[in-house]
Amino acid sequence: MEFFGLSDGAFRFAIFGTVLLTMVIVEAIMPRRKRRFSRLKRWSTNLGIMLSDYVSVIAFTFIVPITAVIAAFWAQKNGWGLLNILELPLWMEWLIAILVLDFVIWFQHLITHKIPILWRIHRVHHSDVEMDASTAIRFHPVEIIFSIFVKAGAILLLGPAAAAVVIFEALVNGSALFNHANFKLPKAIDALVRRLFVTPDMHRVHHSVHPKETDSNYGFFLSIWDQIFGTYIAQPKDGHDEMVIGLNEWQDDAPTRWTWAILLPFTNPKSTKNSDKTSISNPSSKGSD
Ligand SMILES: [Zn+2]
Repeated sequence: MEFFGLSDGAFRFAIFGTVLLTMVIVEAIMPRRKRRFSRLKRWSTNLGIMLSDYVSVIAFTFIVPITAVIAAFWAQKNGWGLLNILELPLWMEWLIAILVLDFVIWFQHLITHKIPILWRIHRVHHSDVEMDASTAIRFHPVEIIFSIFVKAGAILLLGPAAAAVVIFEALVNGSALFNHANFKLPKAIDALVRRLFVTPDMHRVHHSVHPKETDSNYGFFLSIWDQIFGTYIAQPKDGHDEMVIGLNEWQDDAPTRWTWAILLPFTNPKSTKNSDKTSISNPSSKGSD
């Protein structure tokens, strides 16, 4: 499948690279929060995790040839899925495809917080002690493969066009890079954008050490699901400058190491996510909270 003369993989990579580079420049020009850890260390680890994802997905699809796009082609060929049965105008088909797939990703994110074994894997993402565009690529390979199954299952039931799936994946990836970025939209623009889409200030709440805030704002692209299902928190209680990012139990530089992050799902869980007793104050903040 071709997009602007590129294969679907190259098209997604081009969008990803362009948005990542833009975010890195924006973060350098107008950072939102002061950095506590060296960028080199965190970025090399987060890039290393992404590389592990890439290798794992290649190995996985070699054994089990399933991806979201393959599922869409298969559904189309075999007449599977609602959209392959209904005769709808193309624009409506695409709109439904993007809305439903975004809801599925939102719901998948919610259950990774609620089911302990999934939280073990997802906490690799939350263990990042700072939040910037590189946090958006910090997902454990097992979570990426789990996500392939969830998306493929949803696609077999929904039957969206393969092109809509590629566009959706590019949108979600681009949006995740944007809303993890360490920068601030002007207040009025943020208020307008977040009516429909997740903004960096909205998603930062989700990376707070306070469990109530961690378990909110699950959206990666559209903000509507959190608003509809009551999981929306507008601002962090400690404020964007003073709030502590990451998980309470790991506020040192351990999460900046690749081996630590890859092994985290298999280490003894000492997650205090469900008890907010531990209070950590931001080492970089001058005042206390
Ligand atoms: Zn999360």
